[in-house]
Amino acid sequence: MVNLTQRLTEFLSAKSFGHFINGAYTSGNSEETIDVVNPATEETIASVSLGSSDDVDQAVRSAKTAFDYNSPWRKMTPDDRGKLLFAFADKIEEHKETLAQLVTLENGKLIKDARSSDVGGAAKTFRYYAGWTTKIEGETLDISQAQKGGKQNFAFTRREPIGVVAAIVPWNFPLSIASWKVAPALAAGCTVVLKPSEETPLSALLFAELATEAGLPPGVLNVVTGDGSTTGAALTSHKGVSKVTFTGSTRTGKIIGKTAMDNVTGVSLELGGKSPAIVFDDALDFDAAAKGVAAGIFRNQGQVCVAGSRVYIQKKVFDKVLTDVSHIAQKMKISHGFDESADLGPLVSKGHLEGVCSYIRSGLDEGARLLSGGEQPFDKGYYLQPTIFSATDNKQTIVQEEIFGPVLVAVPFTNLEDALQKANDSTMGLAATVWTKDISKAMSMVNRLQAGVVYVNSPVRSDPNLPLGGYKHSGIGRELGKTGVYAYTTLKSVNIVY
Ligand code: NAD
Repeated sequence: MVNLTQRLTEFLSAKSFGHFINGAYTSGNSEETIDVVNPATEETIASVSLGSSDDVDQAVRSAKTAFDYNSPWRKMTPDDRGKLLFAFADKIEEHKETLAQLVTLENGKLIKDARSSDVGGAAKTFRYYAGWTTKIEGETLDISQAQKGGKQNFAFTRREPIGVVAAIVPWNFPLSIASWKVAPALAAGCTVVLKPSEETPLSALLFAELATEAGLPPGVLNVVTGDGSTTGAALTSHKGVSKVTFTGSTRTGKIIGKTAMDNVTGVSLELGGKSPAIVFDDALDFDAAAKGVAAGIFRNQGQVCVAGSRVYIQKKVFDKVLTDVSHIAQKMKISHGFDESADLGPLVSKGHLEGVCSYIRSGLDEGARLLSGGEQPFDKGYYLQPTIFSATDNKQTIVQEEIFGPVLVAVPFTNLEDALQKANDSTMGLAATVWTKDISKAMSMVNRLQAGVVYVNSPVRSDPNLPLGGYKHSGIGRELGKTGVYAYTTLKSVNIVY
């Protein structure tokens, strides 16, 4: 299908993988393994160890030792820490094709997206946070405590690294989402135990190998592979962890949030979305709006947390915009991820494909009109046609629940108030897009939409300097930007009486 790079061929020749702890592979304490399957061919690529609580304990201990006050990592100047993160970013770029091929093999996504979003995105994020290592600051504060004998106060705050970070990530952007956590945590001076998704663990292991080659001291970044209920649960409940940072479904986020509270551990939760795209009848350019709506839902097979999965279109232009979006969907080339001319690859797994298909059945059962797609085009591989529904009832399951696949549902609206009411009528609040040329209307929507990210006249894109996170059940906390690095610090207040 494709010529794998030499590095990847060598990497995959191991066939079965243990965890990456303290700068080296360990065989793991458990006999149990998880197969990693290529979603395009349904063939097993390799297997990884299913991490036990002993494996997790070993990884957390290693991260704790690396975080020790006298460790080389803690003694490093911010500038040197920054240089290491830059070196890691360079390593990621150097092995861009290897990493992208691996992500495509285990996730199924298009290689062009793996190159740009996953690998390019990870390198960009590490460079961005490399710059932050030297800019973490506290404040000096005038306080009102009277001191006897002419003494004075010198009060200030310092930001300290929070400690060992447990980073739990999903499969949809395995490297870029891992980097949104690992890069700021390391920039702040923390150490990390990363648990990748059981669907996409291999790229995380290679990522840790490359970090070590870039010079990261042993124990600073550890990877434990495994599932959620055993490995993930052992990690989030480990007493040695000071902060849990999680990206994944709202269902899992609630479990992790409760566990973190039991341990009084810091937690940030980046959860699911059901993001509205709102197209007004005065949209700047209807072609661009239709293309933007299609890109907003079909990119990465719709497996994007900020995907614009419900589109609200003003009545006057409803048919026109929807016809244009349907034409775009029908022309999309469905093929394996290594096909450079493909527009849509397979979904990540059989189980996930079945879940998405059950939403399509629910849409039909509840009376939504299927305008396009809905079928699995091939006998082999977890492929699904880009699917478009039209619905009039905002309460239908496919309008309310996150499907996380290439399924768009369109609902008409009458005016701005109607659009706002429908868009905000959701338990989720991750992102939204608005398409209009009227700046007053756009700002009214920006101010009143209950969403953590709003884009006007463009699908949502991530940027290392733009915080990402959700309102309502879409999460707690923000990732990326300055907020993203301060999330891995804790504040100490000091007063020196002199
Ligand atoms: P998931 O919740 O099933 O799994 C995510 C991770 O959590 C995996 O590594 C899994 O092994 C682990 N996990 C599962 N149960 C656990 C438990 N009890 N304790 C600890 N860890 C556990 O999500 P998924 O299917 O991998 O990813 C898709 C979801 O992620 C979607 O809902 C999507 O919207 C969301 N997501 C959100 C963002 C964001 O920035 N808000 C970004 C990407 C994806």
